[in-house]
Amino acid sequence: MIKFGTAESIDNPIMTSIIATSIDNESQSSWQQQLANLITDSQQLIDYLQLPQSYRASIDAAIEAFPLRVPMAFLQRINKGDPHDPLLKQVLPLDTELNSHPHYSLDPLQELNANPVPGIIHKYHGRVLLMPTRACAIHCRYCFRRHFPYDDNTPSRQEWQKSLNYLREDPTIEEVILSGGDPLAASDRQLEWLCQQISDIPHIKRLRIHSRLPIVLPDRIDENFLRWSSASRLQMIMVVHSNHAQEIDQHVGLALNKMQQNGFIIFNQTVLLRDINNNLNILSALSKRLIETGVIPYYLHLLDKVQGAEHFDINRDEAIELHRQLRDTLPGYMVPRLVQELAGEGSKTLIR
Ligand SMILES: *Cc1c(COP(=O)(O)O)cnc(C)c1O
Repeated sequence: MIKFGTAESIDNPIMTSIIATSIDNESQSSWQQQLANLITDSQQLIDYLQLPQSYRASIDAAIEAFPLRVPMAFLQRINKGDPHDPLLKQVLPLDTELNSHPHYSLDPLQELNANPVPGIIHKYHGRVLLMPTRACAIHCRYCFRRHFPYDDNTPSRQEWQKSLNYLREDPTIEEVILSGGDPLAASDRQLEWLCQQISDIPHIKRLRIHSRLPIVLPDRIDENFLRWSSASRLQMIMVVHSNHAQEIDQHVGLALNKMQQNGFIIFNQTVLLRDINNNLNILSALSKRLIETGVIPYYLHLLDKVQGAEHFDINRDEAIELHRQLRDTLPGYMVPRLVQELAGEGSKTLIR
């Protein structure tokens, strides 16, 4: 809320500068407001980005199956009037998503089979995925959970007890991974409560958050989030998701720095996407930008074959060749592991 000074205080140079600062801060709305004001309408998208009006029918057809959702903070990094912008392509709905294809599935990772309790996925040794919310700030068109039945997977407080009991009863679990949806779309009140419950389980050492919010809506990393996350006895790990250096502007860089200053180790995962980042220079620039902001490139994923995402897929041999070129170009610590998630395996599968 903007507080206006009295005439007297405005004459005072110190007060004037305090008021100016508070107005500046207020011009950036809170993350909750930004999340409530996502772009969801085809015409808004076309107008804001100056796209051809002819896109409208294609967008409208696609968003009936998987809605449009993009934060303004992400749209601002897209070049206006450029239908080939690499950030735009990740979020632009196209009617080609509706074509069905025999090798693409609704549940490519067979996660529904690994769902012992609603809201939990336990596939790998020592770590378990929890889903605090089905909501996400951005709908990436290649999302492998675009068909996931989240309605059955948003536990109530009472159902959380089942998930927490599952964690309590298995002493091999050392790490809880918050996934989603996007876990940072949940409120700090809910996350702080959950983190407290988890930290009360002695065999759990680490809390890992898989989130795209620090990239697409960096104001999410506010004082309140930093307060509760840095107060926990659990080691905090953040895995962000960025596909292109253009996503990591100064504002995002600041959010990443703040997390590091508060004890987070930060990794990044990227999805290899046709005509967005399947290019040596683009992947190198991304790794360099990540390291510049203190983030370690972790995984480079082959696309999960989910219905609607065929137009993003690249050929496996091309991916292997690109990865070889990356290794020949960059210091080893800048080269993410090329992986694929195969249903039924005990870890991500290294591709080479
Ligand atoms: C990817 C994934 C993890 C985490 O794997 P790491 O290799 O530890 O990053 C855990 N559980 C599930 C179900 C996953 O898909």
